Amino acid sequence: MICPFCRHDDSRVVDSRPVVDGTEIRRRRECPKCGQRFSTQEVALLNIIKRSGATEPFSREKVLVGVRKACQGRPVDEDDLVLLAQRVEETLRGTGQAEIEAQEVGMAILAPLRELDEVAYLRYASVYRNFASLEDFEGEIALLRALPSSATNATSATNVRTPVNTSTAQQKTGK
Ligand SMILES: [Zn+2]
Repeated sequence: MICPFCRHDDSRVVDSRPVVDGTEIRRRRECPKCGQRFSTQEVALLNIIKRSGATEPFSREKVLVGVRKACQGRPVDEDDLVLLAQRVEETLRGTGQAEIEAQEVGMAILAPLRELDEVAYLRYASVYRNFASLEDFEGEIALLRALPSSATNATSATNVRTPVNTSTAQQKTGK
């Protein structure tokens, strides 16, 4: 790390501490040449690849905007949404990938949203998964009824990956 004071191309870490629920690290550094101290912050990369192919940094705010819309008029408060967005970020970071398709962000939102509010989940899923007919809704509702909302994230994530094309509830047909 180059010293911002004298441009010396080396610096020594004198202190490291995690900030923001452990997803960032702040380091205190000292320049061995001029002795000045400065701070740096290290954040694990998490970029979202949009459908156009362009990438942008993951934004919790964008997740919030999307789920807030789906939750309009529902008994869900802002704190629940903030927590949901945090869980989505943790899920995505948990994959260990530095770049994630925008579609996977949508997938990561579906499971916790379903646990939060099933109506909001249906709204979100209908837009996100392009429900085209009443049958799509019926299939999804049948799935919701068949699976207790306490199902693990992994289970519901697998299920939302299964396209529901018929009006009968299809359990997962394998990955
Ligand atoms: Zn320096």
